[in-house]
Amino acid sequence: MNILVLGSGGREHAMAWALSKSSDVDELYVAPGNGGTARIAKNVAGLDIADGLAVLEFVRANDVQLVAIGPEAPLVAGVADVLRAGGVAVFGPDLQGARLEGSKTFCKEFMARHNLPTAGYLSTSDAAAAHTYIDEMGAPIVVKADGLAAGKGVVVAATVEEAHAAVDACFDGAFGEAGATVVIEECLTGPECSMLAFVTAGRAYCMAPSQDHKRAYDGDEGPNTGGMGAYSPVPIVTDEELARMQQVMRDAAAGTAEDFENDYRGVLYGGFMLTPQGPKLLEYNARFGDPETQVVLPRLNSDLAEIMMAVAEGRPGDIELDWDDRWAVTVVLASAGYPGSYEKGKEITGIDDAEFLSGVTVFHAGTKLTEDGRLVTSGGRVLDVTAMGETFEEARELAYAACDLIHFEGKQLRSDIGLRAIRGRDAWA
Ligand code: AMP
Repeated sequence: MNILVLGSGGREHAMAWALSKSSDVDELYVAPGNGGTARIAKNVAGLDIADGLAVLEFVRANDVQLVAIGPEAPLVAGVADVLRAGGVAVFGPDLQGARLEGSKTFCKEFMARHNLPTAGYLSTSDAAAAHTYIDEMGAPIVVKADGLAAGKGVVVAATVEEAHAAVDACFDGAFGEAGATVVIEECLTGPECSMLAFVTAGRAYCMAPSQDHKRAYDGDEGPNTGGMGAYSPVPIVTDEELARMQQVMRDAAAGTAEDFENDYRGVLYGGFMLTPQGPKLLEYNARFGDPETQVVLPRLNSDLAEIMMAVAEGRPGDIELDWDDRWAVTVVLASAGYPGSYEKGKEITGIDDAEFLSGVTVFHAGTKLTEDGRLVTSGGRVLDVTAMGETFEEARELAYAACDLIHFEGKQLRSDIGLRAIRGRDAWA
């Protein structure tokens, strides 16, 4: 079959990389793709991936049988709906399913309806009600813009003053329409942990848990980023917590079948906090995580194309997941200045040397091939260097050894990815 992947980051390179290993795949397209996907697939330039009709036209012209949607933007723009209406198999939920990610209020109401464990909250568009709730609850407390705010719409406020200011910022338009409603939440404590699941026909097939590192600098200092590294599975998760998270994902999948007009078909991403009272949900996303995908998919032995097609066609009985027992760690190499402003166009060398190390795969996030065939930086997060090892330490050391072999001007990375996992639970205190 011919498959089209939508997106251009490390997540999409990992998806395309896993798909390219399938014997079922004839032609693999990635729109727009990056310097890494160009080596294993045909990159499609100039296609607006948030325009469903444009994507449908490409699909028809190129005899594509399956579209796999990477990022949230096309999902919340309803691209899956347009493609499905056109008879195309799609891996990725429709508009209603994507609202789990697109609106925190919608998501919290879904969680409440299905008794899924999460923080207590108030959702309101009324500033006075928001301020009163903060005064009643006290600090610490969490203030969130309801809609998508590029990861910037959440304030974990240590004081009520900070919380009041966050509410004011939302209603003053700091996040545009996304902040017209705020969600104010009880502040939870504990390590964070993600669990991704393939969901179709009300059933969830869970992947291994993973953890990412959101802050830019070592020791979880500095500004929030898209993610600076990740690992999977997560050594500090107990069997009991794992079982609970899997149950929550299955309950959520069943909830999608009950509530939504159309079947949820894609990845459901559960963001959990492992609180002293057990795992509680912080959020749902409607897609693979980035960079979690770069540590989860390399451990998948099963054929991703078959799985995605079974998900897209609502055939849960045909999904079988077989996992590699090894540990996976990914370290992000970023451009100097990221997540602030940064320069592009820096030549990248050493990727072949890094991938020569057994167990190393380098996923491209922000790279492109120039017309004269050089690989240069083109984004804030440039590369995701993933290593697999028999032990967590081995995977971690291998990832860093591979990072040492890769060079570009301004290369920035965290040196402590995974250290907390090695140090154990107390490192989260
Ligand atoms: P979200 O976009 O909802 O995942 O929030 C972004 C980040 O804010 C999370 O990864 C947590 O670190 C933090 N956060 C969100 N909600 C809470 C909460 N209820 N209690 C404590 N921290 C939270």
